[in-house]
Amino acid sequence: MARYRGPACRLCRREGSKLFLKGDRCFSEKCGIERRNYPPGQHGQGRTRFSDYGVQLREKQKVRRMYGLMEKQFARTMTRATRMRGRAGDNLLQLLERRLDNVVFRLGFATSRSEARQLVRHGHFKVDGRKAAIPSMVLKPGQTVALREKSKQVARIAGALEALEGRSVPQWLEVDKDSFEGTVKSLPVREDITLPIQEQLIVELYSR
Ligand code: SF4
Repeated sequence: MARYRGPACRLCRREGSKLFLKGDRCFSEKCGIERRNYPPGQHGQGRTRFSDYGVQLREKQKVRRMYGLMEKQFARTMTRATRMRGRAGDNLLQLLERRLDNVVFRLGFATSRSEARQLVRHGHFKVDGRKAAIPSMVLKPGQTVALREKSKQVARIAGALEALEGRSVPQWLEVDKDSFEGTVKSLPVREDITLPIQEQLIVELYSR
């Protein structure tokens, strides 16, 4: 599956908010948006006014980039969300949160979603005891994510867990750092997702 390989900070600057794509760096003074808080490009410092469509589009791009999805994959997730029971916006966020790469990130095994995605692709994790290397896999309540035995020495994972000290995992997840294992306790609800997202704008965009 394709993925964006360009500069991550450029995406944050385009969206005008921190998307936390680079792990620890996002919390440091080196953060791109702290240093240059205006859109990238020649006209970045000019005046920008968005139409209704523009506002909806930017919100969609922001969420898509936050979770590291390409356009088609995001559109498919949206279609799936609209077919589920309940509010499409809530369903969309729930599907994105339950992706394996996001769960690995949320459990603290990686410092960013892109790092989590790479660790998953490299086969470092098992889901319910079986090797799982598909970052887009959507997890259900009761499923466990564990680090494979031979991957326990991976320095990046140990470093990420160290950085997690003091930070909490969301209520819908549970992590046992000693056994390098996490469990999905329940489905995430809207209140669990504290990111600054206006999902209604995305629903409006796709229903045009
Ligand atoms: Fe975004 Fe992180 Fe870069 Fe800051 S350091 S601009 S939050 S990717």
